[in-house]
Amino acid sequence: MNSNYMDLNGSACGICSSKEYVLLFKKRVGEITFEIVRCQNCGLVYTHPFPKYSEERYNEYPTKRYLENEKAYYSFYRPILKEILAFKKKGKFLEIGCSVGYLLKLAHNEGFKVNGTELSKNAVKASNVLLGKGRVKYGYLENCCFPDNYFDVIAMNHVLEHIFDLSKTLRQIKKKLKDDGILFIGAPNFNNLIVKILKNRWKALRVNEHIWHFKSGTIKKLLTKEGFQVIESKPIGPSIKNIFLAIRSMVKKESFLNQNLFHRLLIIQWNILYYLLNWVTGKIGYGDNMFIIAKKIIIRK
Ligand SMILES: [Zn+2]
Repeated sequence: MNSNYMDLNGSACGICSSKEYVLLFKKRVGEITFEIVRCQNCGLVYTHPFPKYSEERYNEYPTKRYLENEKAYYSFYRPILKEILAFKKKGKFLEIGCSVGYLLKLAHNEGFKVNGTELSKNAVKASNVLLGKGRVKYGYLENCCFPDNYFDVIAMNHVLEHIFDLSKTLRQIKKKLKDDGILFIGAPNFNNLIVKILKNRWKALRVNEHIWHFKSGTIKKLLTKEGFQVIESKPIGPSIKNIFLAIRSMVKKESFLNQNLFHRLLIIQWNILYYLLNWVTGKIGYGDNMFIIAKKIIIRK
């Protein structure tokens, strides 16, 4: 076993703490085989053993790739902002794990006062160039010293599935969010047809990074347990533009360019088929991504 990638202390369900699980399938990454398992008590799907957090890996974050494709990445973030605007149109906006700050830039352009937190030091640097010094802080939410009951919007896009202590994070979010604030979560959706058909060949199944593989039902269980009420939950499929960008970025990768012509053609063919399936399943309501909007449950005394 490779201890750089695996948490050898074992694993347990992030919602109910049960250690009873059933194996769904396995996925090999390099020399390591991870198991994808489902909690027998609450149904949460997770990676076993847990992939390990390491600061060096966050420093390998591909900031350069994001900066080189600025325009393209805005097309990923626009639908998220549109979703948030349907519930909140102004106020203080925090993004946890804000990468190089593209969603925050769009929110700023809409008139929100924006802040971010991020664990990659080079992404923090890049986001502060984009948004102005000090807008984005390095570290976890609990260490970033924001006042309680402060934010109108807290957003996390493709972050929750990486977080080991879900309860601790959601308790912090609840503290920092105003009573009428909203929480936006974007995450891979395990309830998709690709994972049912292709199992471990689902592209969003990044087992060496993702601890949890949520469905709308398990995310709702988690949020309810932590005092939130889900007010919107929807599966999202890729747009044609996103698919084009994904294929364009794939053909620029070294692992692709090192192949001979025959293999390159095979890879392109496979990817076109994959994304076609991805697009169709998204259109019929089984997209492999999901948007969740939740608000705090307020108990009035
Ligand atoms: Zn469980």
